Formats: sequence, structure tokens, C-alpha cells
Amino acid sequence: MMGRVDAIKRFNEYLGTLNYRKIVIIAGNHDWLFETQPKEAEKLITNAIYLKDSEIIIDGIKIYGSPWQPWFGDWAFNLRRGLPLKKKWNLIPKDVDILMTHGPPYSYLDKNFRGEYTGCQDLLYRIRVIAPKYHVFGHIHEGYGTAKEDKTTFINASVVDVHYRMVNDPIVFEL
Ligand SMILES: [Zn+2]
Repeated sequence: MMGRVDAIKRFNEYLGTLNYRKIVIIAGNHDWLFETQPKEAEKLITNAIYLKDSEIIIDGIKIYGSPWQPWFGDWAFNLRRGLPLKKKWNLIPKDVDILMTHGPPYSYLDKNFRGEYTGCQDLLYRIRVIAPKYHVFGHIHEGYGTAKEDKTTFINASVVDVHYRMVNDPIVFEL
């Protein structure tokens, strides 16, 4: 819940038990240490590739990851809507195949339990320019599922529901 050292260690150990060739992760609003002491937090991740406004190319597939979301309570990786977030999204290269962000884009799988569209409009505009094959995110647990716009498939991969119960299956896709 708070991204403390012991939790990150346990998470990293869990990642080490998974049978995948590569694991790519990003932080989200619970992952405090990754924002307040990024070097310390990143050192604890030895069983995955951690992205923060950065990219990795695996087998010719370009993956870009970013943790920011529109201001959301008193949490990590908050930025104001408008210019602060837009500046981050402008860093996303145009040839990305898989985009990972913590939060959703506006109007896709971003509706909360109150029926509000919570996603970032500037993120949606950037995605329309880039047209990644996949945009994977979480954050709004109620939005779990997939949707499509033109060339981009959106995946809200939240495995927990609004009460943090593990109720959703992981989402598998092929490129
Ligand atoms: Zn979140």
C-alpha cells in the first residue's frame, strides 16, 4: 500500500519466482519510495526492468514506461493536469510499441465507481499521435478490461477491485 522497503523487497522476491524471460515494471501512486528515494528503491529491484520515463527494447519491441497520473489524493507521482503532465507525455517516443503508464487515458477504461471519467486528456492526445500497438495501465481498478481505438488496444490490467481484493485475471496479449 505504501511502497516501503520491506514491501518492495517482498515484491522483488515474488518477481523472482515468476517464470518469464523478461519482466518490465513501472511504479504507481502507492510506490512512495520510488518517488522520494528513487535510487534506493530501484536498487531493490533485481528481478525486473524498472522504467521511469524511459524505454527498453526487447526483441525489437520498444516498451516505454511512466508512473505519473493526474493529481489523486495525497499520493506519489501526482502531477497537475495540463502542462505538467503534458511535458511528461511529450517525452514518449513516437515509435513505441507498448506504452505502460500507471493511469489511464481519458475516456478509456478510466471510469471510477462514481461514474466519473478520471483519465488524462493530454495522455489520450499523445497516444493518438504515437498510435502504440498497446497501452497498458491500471490505477482505476473499476476500469479493468480492454478497449480499442484505431491501431491502439487499451488494457486496464488492474488485478484488484476497488476494495483491493484480487479478483481479476492477468491479461495476456500477443504482438
Ligand atoms: Zn493507482
